[in-house]
Amino acid sequence: MSATVVEGVAATALRSVLHRVRQAAEQSGRHAEDVRVVAVGKTKPVSLIQEIYDAGHRCFGENYVQEIIDKAPQLPDDIRWHFIGHLQSNKVKSLLAKSGVEPSDSIELAKHVRLGCPNLEFSGLMTIGMPDYSSTPENFKTLFKCRTEVCKVLGMAEFQCELSMGMSNDFEQAIKMGSTNVRIGSTIFGPREYPKGQ
Ligand SMILES: *Cc1c(COP(=O)(O)O)cnc(C)c1O
Repeated sequence: MSATVVEGVAATALRSVLHRVRQAAEQSGRHAEDVRVVAVGKTKPVSLIQEIYDAGHRCFGENYVQEIIDKAPQLPDDIRWHFIGHLQSNKVKSLLAKSGVEPSDSIELAKHVRLGCPNLEFSGLMTIGMPDYSSTPENFKTLFKCRTEVCKVLGMAEFQCELSMGMSNDFEQAIKMGSTNVRIGSTIFGPREYPKGQ
């Protein structure tokens, strides 16, 4: 019983988020179609992700490797998975190295993840803002400028480079500041519960 209630809530929350995305896009003279909504289901059960899928959503994000490996095979294969963790960042590679894991392990890990999940995408430039997961307009502006610089150096058109910024608490502002990719977890799936001690 209670599971049914929870699932209904998630689908309703998705619709509300999509509506808010559309409004924020229109208010800033953009098209809602230019903003991808990545539903972040980390720590959430496959059944809840399936519910959002059944509501028509196809784009999902995970930021723990193990979860994407576990969940992807249990879900329809036309889901577009976005890995939003830190696998590729040098900072984390050096953290891994410090904890005794060789950086090459994370590359092996990435290959592994791709093998298990071919429809996996790594996003473009991403910010998660402050440690409390709220971003400021400065974060967003910095990333926006950063894209301009990166694209100049790489000789890429800016529209080819995703700007992944904006989460549950700040996605409307991020859209107004040019985000092409908002990553929304708790507003769709409800608050995350971590095991005690984490
Ligand atoms: C968990 C997570 C999100 C989603 O956060 P919410 O505040 O629940 O929307 C977005 N991006 C990253 C990188 C995350 O780890």
